[in-house]
Amino acid sequence: TRVCYCPAANAFLELHTKSQGHPLTSISHPAVPGTWQAQGNRQCLPIDSILHPGPARWKEVFPVANGDRQSPIDIQTEETKYDPALPPINPNYDPTSAKVILNNGHSTSVEFDDTENKSVLRGGPLNGSYRLRQIHFHWGASDDIGSEHAVDGKKYAAELHVVHWNSDKYSTFVEAARQRDGLAVMAVFLKIGECNSQLKKITDRLDAIRAKGKQALFTNFDPSCLLPHSLDYWTYLGSLTVPPLLESVIWIILREPISVSSEQLAKFRSLLCTAEGEAACCMLRNYRPPQPLKGREVRRN
Ligand SMILES: [Zn+2]
Repeated sequence: TRVCYCPAANAFLELHTKSQGHPLTSISHPAVPGTWQAQGNRQCLPIDSILHPGPARWKEVFPVANGDRQSPIDIQTEETKYDPALPPINPNYDPTSAKVILNNGHSTSVEFDDTENKSVLRGGPLNGSYRLRQIHFHWGASDDIGSEHAVDGKKYAAELHVVHWNSDKYSTFVEAARQRDGLAVMAVFLKIGECNSQLKKITDRLDAIRAKGKQALFTNFDPSCLLPHSLDYWTYLGSLTVPPLLESVIWIILREPISVSSEQLAKFRSLLCTAEGEAACCMLRNYRPPQPLKGREVRRN
């Protein structure tokens, strides 16, 4: 079995070749020789060797990078289609399901207990319940760029991803991540402005997890405190934005941004992509640029 660490989900995902009949994942000829490492009976891909060269080189190892439903995208608001049949989205989160905050070397995330349906997202374009797995952030080297999705060509300072998996149809996150309707990611734009007191709960803990691999207890946290007043959204079918770039995500992108101060954003950039004892290297940017729409429809409620 070949596995790849997926930082967006803090999980190892199994990879299969096309010849084995799994169209969603398509590793067949890794272009970077010697990157696979044996761990027991598994071949592991150290994600650093893939992420570090940057998004432009991911296609060398993950051909799906050129696939038909890749993310993020630039949302052309005039081209989006109003769908009166789309219901409101309905997040219902239990603060006791929050477990830890961690630095995986590529972002910072809060991980949730997803062994039962304590915290779920329903409604909108979703059929059934999608269980909360984790939240993480994307940002840039300066305040004028950093979001993954763009709106009419404009980038926000940062973007929050709230990651869920289809627990009605699948039994684990890893299984769901390989299915076309397996994941639902709610995206929230962060716009430079006033200090965000809810976000402070997270930024206050970043000093404790500065080095890669660090984690700290993070409990009694309801991520809906980070959502904007309006939950109006755009939705389209896309992918994970980090390797293995699986085309399994129903994206729900909230149209109203939340605020973040320049000082708060600087705290994210002070996180290290290196472990303790290594030459320190700051996490200055971790976004993938917009990918071709390839005929997909973006709907709005
Ligand atoms: Zn993400």
